[in-house]
Amino acid sequence: MAAFGTEFTDKMVINHYADGQWSGLDVVPVEPFRLHPATHVLHYASECFEGLKAYRTAEGNIHLFRPDRHVARLLNSAAQLLLPVPDEATLVSSLHRAVAEVKDQIPAYPGSLYLRPTLFGTEEDIGAAARPTQKAIYYVLTSPVGDYFAGGLKPLRVKVDHEAQRSTPEFGAVKTGGNYAAAMRQVVRAREELGADQVLFAPGGIVQETGAANFVLIENGELLTKPLDGSILPGVTRDSILTLAAEAGLKVTERDFNVTELLERAPNGEAALTGTAAVLTPVGELVHNGVTTQVGNGEMGPWSSKLRDQLCSIQSGTADDPHGWRVALNA
Ligand SMILES: *Cc1c(COP(=O)(O)O)cnc(C)c1O
Repeated sequence: MAAFGTEFTDKMVINHYADGQWSGLDVVPVEPFRLHPATHVLHYASECFEGLKAYRTAEGNIHLFRPDRHVARLLNSAAQLLLPVPDEATLVSSLHRAVAEVKDQIPAYPGSLYLRPTLFGTEEDIGAAARPTQKAIYYVLTSPVGDYFAGGLKPLRVKVDHEAQRSTPEFGAVKTGGNYAAAMRQVVRAREELGADQVLFAPGGIVQETGAANFVLIENGELLTKPLDGSILPGVTRDSILTLAAEAGLKVTERDFNVTELLERAPNGEAALTGTAAVLTPVGELVHNGVTTQVGNGEMGPWSSKLRDQLCSIQSGTADDPHGWRVALNA
């Protein structure tokens, strides 16, 4: 299978906003857009998106994983960016429709169908720098993805940066391209200078998250992570892992913690990144001020492996789903 993000199905769901209304959901071939050079998003970054997955189980059933959470987050992102957005029911049905249209292109587990709902401003007006776009496009692109870890689960080397900002305090919970643009040069620099895979942003010394995944520390029977205070993305995977961790007997603590506490506890514990694409990825090394600290024995720890397996079993359809996270395809 092609690298994650480079292969797409042949159809997508689309909805156009103009003159104060949405056109309604339509299914079109995946083809390039024709955009005027003055298109709002190209100048003023009026854009947000989501990322979620649909799975085909061994029995051939198709379900989406917690689509309601992704819809709620998209509604919030759009509101913060003053972007017009379809209503909740339309967004939910856009996801089901996008999956149904390409049902026969969904790889069996551990593969899945990755959905990328995207919303962007299309008004043709470079004078609209300080005013919301009056036109927009919403679409759901889908991508068949293979096993993210076909090559094995290699623990990451992560730079801990106590100065750089990933986002602003207002936009940390908004899934928008602007946050990725702001974080990118930090990640590239960490890769070039330290051979790091990711940057853990900890502005002012408070540990937040990486450029595209939430961060958890597990040590001495406790799972510690930053609370949802608007500065980090409210990850659906984060929420799922916290729920499973509490049920498995870990004490789940959401509070601010600093780099000093992280580096003190990490050698005796485990650390991991959570996100839809990779579920849970272990962190093997933390690099701060040029000094490398090994997390546990540098390999994936027992809690990380247990929680990852549990979540994967729910997603694959082999475990019970007491929380109703699997939503059967209904289109
Ligand atoms: C998308 C994203 C996550 C992960 O969210 P999930 O809902 O778990 O996929 C975490 N942090 C950032 C900055 C993100 O953009």
